[in-house]
Amino acid sequence: MMTDHMTAAAAATQTLIEAHAAVKARPGHALAEVLLAIKAVALGGTVAQFVDADQLLDTETFTSGLFAPAIKPLLEARAAAQLRDVPWIVACLSRRLAWVYDFAGDDVAAIEMIEDARSGFQTLGDFEALSRSLNNLGVIWIRRNDLVGAERVLNEALLLADRINVPVERARVRINYGHLCGMLGEYERGKQMLTTAFELLVVLGHPAQTAALLNLARLALAQGRTDEATTTLDRAHKLIGAGNRLGRIEGCLVRGQIASREARHDVAMHFFNEGIAMAAETGALREEKELWEALSNARAAASDFQQAYEATQRGLALDDRLRRERALLQAATTVERRAAERAQHEADIARANEVALRETLSRLERTQSDLERANSDKDTLLAELHRQTREDPLTRLLNRRALDTELERECTRAERYSRPLALALLDIDNFKQINDTRSHAVGDAVLVTVAQCLRDARRHSDVVARLGGEEMVVLFPETAAEQALAACEALREQLSAINWLAMDAPGAVTASFGVAVFRAGDNAATMLARADAAMYSAKRAGKDRVTLAT
Ligand code: GH3
Ligand code: MG
Ligand code: MG
Repeated sequence: MMTDHMTAAAAATQTLIEAHAAVKARPGHALAEVLLAIKAVALGGTVAQFVDADQLLDTETFTSGLFAPAIKPLLEARAAAQLRDVPWIVACLSRRLAWVYDFAGDDVAAIEMIEDARSGFQTLGDFEALSRSLNNLGVIWIRRNDLVGAERVLNEALLLADRINVPVERARVRINYGHLCGMLGEYERGKQMLTTAFELLVVLGHPAQTAALLNLARLALAQGRTDEATTTLDRAHKLIGAGNRLGRIEGCLVRGQIASREARHDVAMHFFNEGIAMAAETGALREEKELWEALSNARAAASDFQQAYEATQRGLALDDRLRRERALLQAATTVERRAAERAQHEADIARANEVALRETLSRLERTQSDLERANSDKDTLLAELHRQTREDPLTRLLNRRALDTELERECTRAERYSRPLALALLDIDNFKQINDTRSHAVGDAVLVTVAQCLRDARRHSDVVARLGGEEMVVLFPETAAEQALAACEALREQLSAINWLAMDAPGAVTASFGVAVFRAGDNAATMLARADAAMYSAKRAGKDRVTLAT
């Protein structure tokens, strides 16, 4: 994924460099390279790179007059941008496509695309691009000869461009608005618009200034001011670069028209012929057709009817070809649009899937952490349960059951490895009395204190348990009788050192100890029985003493 993305970004940079080089080397003939760059940038480039590529396309299509080859790559680029979810690039490409569709004569597709761009830029808050889209829509209306519609849209574009105060947009709108004014017969207003546009573009050094001049020349011609039209054209001619074929073709047309107006038919025919040659070379069919028609008129005016007829025929043939090509183009664009729609649909599905996948993943993560928590809760509970089954709740010593297990294990070990093992059973003396004369609670406190005393005194391997009632057991692994007896003596002394009065117990709390040592064949029960018997001997002998089992 990462490498794909990096490759796409690298491809975008590379094609962009190549497109720049191609435009520089062959202005007006580098459309293929520019389109390639547009597509590569849509696939993996940045917005800044797209602006760069888009500007190249601007100059290239402006000057070459070739639009049809752009449809497919632009649609593919748009689908790629949709898939990458870069709405600004998508909107830019929609606007571009609208423009191209318009030149291809597909009004419906053009309007659909420009509306798409318009709402895209509106949503993104890009008012400069929005103004430009409105301007494009205005041109479409002009071409459809809906002058009222055109004026409405261009008015909107003009207000917006002036409000955001972006000079190039203010000029662009005015170039078209000025042209529209000429069509509406509002020459003064048109001239004002076009002059402002020209001045704005001169400051910017923008190539569209020639378009402003051409429109100004047309306007002057429409008013019959042929001298002014010629002067304006001369200015335009100086500005129009060799690569700007469309500009030069239009220049020939207007010059021819001026000459026709002045009844200089030979001059007119000369310009029309020059324009026709250039248009034919460029493949600018619409312009060529218009030039043949103009040439036909000029020849007729010069009374050369045979030649006029032939020119008309050429114009009609081109008209025919244009219609046929448009039909083909429309069929082709329908196919492309279906493909683009399908790509869009697939992109939507892919996005929806991704969202669903992410949701499922996060749900899974939540479940997982719930599960982990439940698991650790379970472990804690099990450990607690295990502890409870082995522990005496009052003294927290091992209980009888746990003692049996431990003792059994130690007996087995002692037997198998012939190791010493001792066991002491102690019973608190006169405990019933404590309960009776003090309270059960004091009795409990005495039990807890004795248990703590045993716990504190034991070695690491020793096991301390409560057998039941006031009887407790200390298990001494690896211990012979003597050491066990000494340990019990020490315990007895420790008990006597406790400040029992502080817990409201009688002044002295003592215990009787019975000690048994492991003998071959012993088990838990036999050892306990011997220790119990020894403990009873200690009781009988006067309590508060340690007795070794016989
Ligand atoms: P001896 O010196 O002969 O051992 O006399 P004793 O009073 O200690 O022995 P006896 O067996 O007569 O009494 C034991 C008493 O311990 C009886 C019982 O009520 C009491 N007891 C047993 N378990 C507990 C307990 O968990 N808490 C309290 N407070 N008393 C208990
Ligand atoms: Mg007892
Ligand atoms: Mg007792």
